[in-house]
Amino acid sequence: MSEINWKIFDTVANLMILAEQIAIIVANSHCQPPISIIPTQNTIENNADHCTHIIQTALSSYNQQQELINDICLFSMTYAQIAERDYRLFFKHFRNERIFNGVNVINHTRIPHPLTNARSVSILIVGGGISGMVTALSFARAGIPVRLFEKKTEFGEIGAGMQLAPNCSRILDRLDVLKQVQANAFFPKQIVWMDALTGQRLTCIDLGAKFIETFGYPYIVVHRADLFNAIYQACLANSMITMETDRTVTSVDERPKSIMVECADGMRYDCNMVIAADGLWSSLRKFVCDDGAPISAGYVTYRGTIDIKQVSKEAGLENVQFWIGPDIHLVQYPIRRGESYNQAAIFKSKKIPDDTDEWGTKEELNQRFSIGCKHVKNALKSIQTNFRLPVYDRNPLSKWSRGRLVLLGDAAHPMLQYAGQGAAQALEDADVLVTAYKKYGPLKIDSVFREYEQKRIPHSSKVVQFARDIGTFAHCDGVAKIVRDKILKEHDIYDYEFLKWIYEDHQKDRK
Ligand SMILES: Cc1cc2nc3c(=O)[nH]c(=O)nc-3n(C[C@H](O)[C@H](O)[C@H](O)COP(=O)(O)OP(=O)(O)OC[C@H]3O[C@@H](n4cnc5c(N)ncnc54)[C@H](O)[C@@H]3O)c2cc1C
Repeated sequence: MSEINWKIFDTVANLMILAEQIAIIVANSHCQPPISIIPTQNTIENNADHCTHIIQTALSSYNQQQELINDICLFSMTYAQIAERDYRLFFKHFRNERIFNGVNVINHTRIPHPLTNARSVSILIVGGGISGMVTALSFARAGIPVRLFEKKTEFGEIGAGMQLAPNCSRILDRLDVLKQVQANAFFPKQIVWMDALTGQRLTCIDLGAKFIETFGYPYIVVHRADLFNAIYQACLANSMITMETDRTVTSVDERPKSIMVECADGMRYDCNMVIAADGLWSSLRKFVCDDGAPISAGYVTYRGTIDIKQVSKEAGLENVQFWIGPDIHLVQYPIRRGESYNQAAIFKSKKIPDDTDEWGTKEELNQRFSIGCKHVKNALKSIQTNFRLPVYDRNPLSKWSRGRLVLLGDAAHPMLQYAGQGAAQALEDADVLVTAYKKYGPLKIDSVFREYEQKRIPHSSKVVQFARDIGTFAHCDGVAKIVRDKILKEHDIYDYEFLKWIYEDHQKDRK
């Protein structure tokens, strides 16, 4: 460094010399073991502030600054390559810097771990919710080892009740966890549709012997945590599954023969296949398709469970009850072997959920449901109001994969909760993905994904639309409501034709 005259930083060529020096220092200080290039005696680090000042004064134009950054990138990349570093990630970090801040930028740029430190993983699942967990179990049951990363510090589900339709139970059965789930479930006799305003019974779906005979499995309702725990315990007991908490995946980088995953703690994993099961707010979805944020039509949910003793007998303790009215509905059913009672009140807020506190307020909840019948108003008194949940979905995608990355569960097809199918569809995703993987193997990931997408995208997209239609049907008013009520009242309670496309087994031909 001693031969460099700081006063002559008036050309890019001169600055390139500086860039080279910086690159050597950066590469050296982050390389394990150090590379063989001999470092300069007087490091720039000792003169960081001075260098920054000189460079900023000399290169006052933004274009010149950008040019310099690019040059530094080029040099750094060369050295990083020598050091067997992941030069593409390294390069990206520099490219992302908008404003040149001289040496400080480089000193403060987080350098990825050297490539030699990246661990090799065959199948990585990102997200330890119901989808990720069930995918892990599906692979493991097929004798295929997987690794799962969850960003939270502990595994677990909170929340309230869930309805598990026969298509969900079928897959839980294949995974050998249905008995555990059923042990804590409640078996309703009917799904009853009620008019939330008049209190009149509109129709029901009978869930008795004929239903079970038609679909092979009963319709059950559970606490979300009980479903999760049954799957989680099975995963824990399976040596094919490695699960890690406190691991937030921040980026994926496609390579010729693998996909590199980077976590927030800087750890990197060189994978053959990555399954993004990271939920509604998936951060990996954008690597497949950047379609923005989930969609809200303004509906908000308040939900929770209460002790069954607090519930009046009139509530109909044997059934799932679906109270419907203009822009509102209330869902009620017992869970946990009938010891708790689940309630969810949904209504359309005047304001689309945003980062203010003004949407879906408690006042609005009470005001919206004030049009309800006596039963609905009574139920509202025991609805928990400490937590509100916006209702979201997304428009279906035509592709769920890119390279070696594939979406699954809510990350792929978040849907309105009205059809009680979100988790069920995720279970079907896992089932189909594993079947395709077994068929084509790890060397034909593109064929695995093609079959998975062909089987799952059209079907789940229909379910997304079905859930929207239920919302429109349930929340209508005026003439539409009159027509709807007539249709419902004429419905044969043992007619399951309209449900067959969802509840039937789509993998009958599986090998
Ligand atoms: C009110 C309501 C009622 C519902 N009722 C039903 C029902 O009756 N029946 C039904 O089948 N479905 C129902 N659903 C849908 C169902 O709950 C969801 O479809 C399902 O839980 C989605 O699971 P998931 O694992 O895909 O997503 P999530 O549960 O969101 O899990 C994603 C996980 O990924 C983790 N994660 C996120 N980003 C990262 C990252 N970068 N790195 C590592 N980990 C990450 C998260 O911490 C989380 O644990 C309902 C949904 C709602 C909201």
